[in-house]
Amino acid sequence: MTEVAAGTRVVPTIAALRATLAERRAGGASVALVPTMGALHDGHLALVRRARELADVVVVSIFVNPLQFGPGEDLARYPRSLDADVAALTALGVDTVFAPHVDEMYPRGGAGGTTVHAGPIGSRYEGASRPGHFDGMLTVVAKLFGIVLPDVAVFGQKDAQQVFLVSRMVADLDLPVRIETVPIVREPDGLARSSRNRYLDAEQRRAALVLVESLRAADAAASAGPSELLAEGVAAFGDHDGVTLDYFVVVDPDTLLPVPDDYRGRALVLVAALVGSTRLIDNAFVEIG
Ligand code: AMP
Repeated sequence: MTEVAAGTRVVPTIAALRATLAERRAGGASVALVPTMGALHDGHLALVRRARELADVVVVSIFVNPLQFGPGEDLARYPRSLDADVAALTALGVDTVFAPHVDEMYPRGGAGGTTVHAGPIGSRYEGASRPGHFDGMLTVVAKLFGIVLPDVAVFGQKDAQQVFLVSRMVADLDLPVRIETVPIVREPDGLARSSRNRYLDAEQRRAALVLVESLRAADAAASAGPSELLAEGVAAFGDHDGVTLDYFVVVDPDTLLPVPDDYRGRALVLVAALVGSTRLIDNAFVEIG
């Protein structure tokens, strides 16, 4: 396969991707994978920059995975912007974009075949509101690991439960890949960057700040203990029209289970809310006690 000088190749098939990566690996190159659903923003690009530091070859996958969307979710209207995504990745010096069609990833259909089960943490928090989401996510991530055989895969802390479950899958299934996590990239006013932010109108965009405000309130109360922290965080949602809190929890980062009230030390606060009909998530580490 010929290299395009300083260009980014968009590869739609598994066979072509494997062939090009095998060649690079035979030449001694290490490979980093950044899995995405496209509609790239600065959060994704931070992952790509980290991947470039960690490996010789960077593969960014762009695939809106139907298996991780439930009925009634935004699969059909999820933003897609392949040309702009590729331009942004070219500017960052990415070698290869893997952008398969759904039939390439699921030639026998997705739902009826072998899938990964996320385990008990997969049905909490995001998984409680989005049944099957994490099984679908882990299934596609496992497939991408099998296709790309990356030395390292880079994920965002923005999706804290996702990166926890991916790390758990890698440990439980002895997959030979290192997981690297990148901190949350935010807008100047604090809103966590998300492809779904583009669903928000101006008023909803303002209202969406309640998520990060609730995390700041929780952090400010963290020295008083978990229940005070939770009370302050939830109180931030008090009088926001058009915002519905889904969950606000404080968990042990090592287990993702809710902490007991006498817990002291580093904890992770997870929040999800609907702003209009747009589901947004955010999280922050806090020090309790
Ligand atoms: P997505 O395209 O939404 O599936 O996200 C692809 C990857 O980008 C995941 O590992 C996300 O956690 C990560 N990501 C998305 N938004 C952000 C952000 N604001 N900061 C850091 N990483 C992010």
